Parts: sequence; C-alpha cells; structure tokens
Amino acid sequence: MNWIGEVLVSPGDGGVYNERMLGGQRVWDPFRSKLSALYYAGKAIELTPDMRILYLGAANGTTVSHVADYSETVYALEFAPRPMQDLLEVARRRGNIVPIMADATQPDQYAPLVEAVDLLYQDVAQPDQALIAVRNSVFLKRGGHLILMLKTRSVDVRKEPAEVFHDTLDVLTAAGLVVIESVWLEPYHHDHAAIVCRKP
Ligand code: SAM
Repeated sequence: MNWIGEVLVSPGDGGVYNERMLGGQRVWDPFRSKLSALYYAGKAIELTPDMRILYLGAANGTTVSHVADYSETVYALEFAPRPMQDLLEVARRRGNIVPIMADATQPDQYAPLVEAVDLLYQDVAQPDQALIAVRNSVFLKRGGHLILMLKTRSVDVRKEPAEVFHDTLDVLTAAGLVVIESVWLEPYHHDHAAIVCRKP
C-alpha cells in the first residue's frame, strides 16, 4: 500500500468523488472508507496488482475506485439502482471494475459473471451479514482472504455490539474460515468491526 508520510493514498486518476490529491496520488480517507480505516489500524490484507476481488456492497464506488487502483480486477456488486448509476460511471472511467447489479444473498445469480477471487470484501450492512459472507466464500480461492465489515447495529439493535461480533466470529469459524484479525474501527466508524479471515 502507498503511504505518503502517514497518509494512505492510491495510485489512480483523481476526480472520482472530489477526493484530495497528494504527490500525484489519491488520498484514501479513513473517515470515508472502512477499508481505509482498517489499513490505518494496520490489520488489512495488502492489495497487489495481480489480485482479483469480489466486492459486495459497492454503493457508489468510492472505496471500489481505490481498490481498483491497486488490483487487477474488481467485481463490484450492488443491488440498489441509485448508487448503481454512480458505480457505472466510476467503472466507465476505469478498465478493471466489473459492475454487477445483483443481490449478494443470491450468489447463484451472478456466479456465471465472477471468477475465483483472491479477496472477498463485504460491506453490505444487513442482518445476515455473516451468512452472506459464508455463501459468497465459494468464490474464494483456497488461501484467499475475506474482509467482512460488520455493522453491529444492522444485525440486531437489541444485542450489545460485542455479542453480535462474537456471534459473527462463531458463524465464520463454523463455516471453516480461519479468523486472522478482528478489530473495531473506532475512531473512524462507530459500531463497526472488521473481521479478516483466510480460507484454508
Ligand atoms: N462499501 C461502500 C463504500 O465503502 O463506499 C459503502 C457500502 S454501504 C455501507 C452498503 C451498500 O450495500 C449499500 O449501497 C447497499 O445498497 C448495498 N447492499 C445492501 N445489501 C445488499 C445486498 N443484499 N446485495 C447487494 N448490495 C447490497
């Protein structure tokens, strides 16, 4: 990953969402992107130019655009029409983003469009986040990684965030994934945890 001093940047053309530029690279703000916050916490997987990534919950492509700056191909999945319009524009300007309008709970529907990937990144803020990750782990190569962004309040507002966090770890582990990092994203994102797993 590229750091200029203590600032995370990505090496691509700017002007995607009025992001700042520094030393000719795009500033990747940890307050605007949970994945950036995870890099600031020192816990994320390094992105490399040969990586293929399945990104669930692409929204308008803000974080996707930074991921694409570092990797070979990003399959970017989003099911809401409005952010999809913005995502299509981001993909039009970058050759390595494959936008897919589909529901992440239905992997069979987009399986014909997605190759085996090195990294599965999930940021969908849904009650069944852990199960969605498990279902989509079929796309992960052996030795590949999952990064799950867990919005604890989306899972169950009646439960304490720590309880939701531990329940999620249990679901992932029961599915055969090996948890290698887990961290809260404070002070950048409240009630959000990141869980990094490896598929053995
Ligand atoms: N990852 C984005 C970023 O960093 O720029 C932000 C993602 S936002 C928190 C969550 C997104 O997931 C929303 O755009 C929402 O429409 C999408 N989403 C939620 N459930 C989904 C599902 N089942 N399938 C596909 N997309 C979903």
